[in-house]
Amino acid sequence: MTILSFEDLLNESKKRNLAIYEIAQEEESKLKETPVSAIRTDAKFTLEAMKLAIKNGLTSTEKSVSNWCGDDTVRLTKRYQNMGALFGKIFEKITTYALATAEENLRMGRIVACPTAGSCGIVPSVLIAVAEEKNISEEKQIDALLTAGIVGLIISYKVRLAGAVAGCQAECGVASAMSAAALTELLGGSAHEIIQAATLALKNILGLTCDPVCGLVEVPCIKRNPFLAIHAVTASELALSGIESKILPDEVVDTLKITGQLMSPLLKETSQGGLAKTKTALELEKKLFNKD
Ligand code: SF4
Repeated sequence: MTILSFEDLLNESKKRNLAIYEIAQEEESKLKETPVSAIRTDAKFTLEAMKLAIKNGLTSTEKSVSNWCGDDTVRLTKRYQNMGALFGKIFEKITTYALATAEENLRMGRIVACPTAGSCGIVPSVLIAVAEEKNISEEKQIDALLTAGIVGLIISYKVRLAGAVAGCQAECGVASAMSAAALTELLGGSAHEIIQAATLALKNILGLTCDPVCGLVEVPCIKRNPFLAIHAVTASELALSGIESKILPDEVVDTLKITGQLMSPLLKETSQGGLAKTKTALELEKKLFNKD
């Protein structure tokens, strides 16, 4: 059967005693008309591209065309080198990796849109930082990536994953749900816990607007990545402890869609409201475009 909802996913997992990643690779295989082995090879390439984006982003200080951003990863790394992260090595790596990937995006470097370019740091940072610190095998990382993929796919059947359609809840919010699912898979969570982790992440980010200054995927997009990566970790920890969303997973996805429809167009990537219309944003715009 085709998996169209979280309910389908959980039922299929129970019925056939399959892990979520096994269902994910089957679904991808059907959609792409390719064998499962090829799907896993593709996922391996994706994982390698994510790792390379982090590596490049960790050392580069090249600024964006606007000259507003590009050196925050190095700034954060220096702080951790001097002080250490308050919440330990995994927190340190997640926040720097998320920032590094998002900054690679602003430089037009090679990143993996996951699910979008603006939210590209959220899934890789959590997955790779935890895998490194816990010595998790590449095969398990691929399982986690496939798990993230089916979460994004199911949400995308109901909501277009674009800030212009449903605000940043549909980009960074969905990335955080995917990331929470991937982390829960990495940590050995059950199918039920994986879906709960995704649901808790999504539920607690509903209403996040898309208001990029001057229409550039820089402010507030870049810093949103480390914040929403840590949000995913919280969701996963809660789900693994047995805490559940009172609202059903598919109802949360429906709410994401409806919230996006209710959101003013001014807050959906038009740069006509929110942070994009603050005094500072207007001054930045004036300087950038040499307006009088
Ligand atoms: S604020 Fe808008 S452009 Fe920026 S990451 Fe979020 S959805 Fe994408």
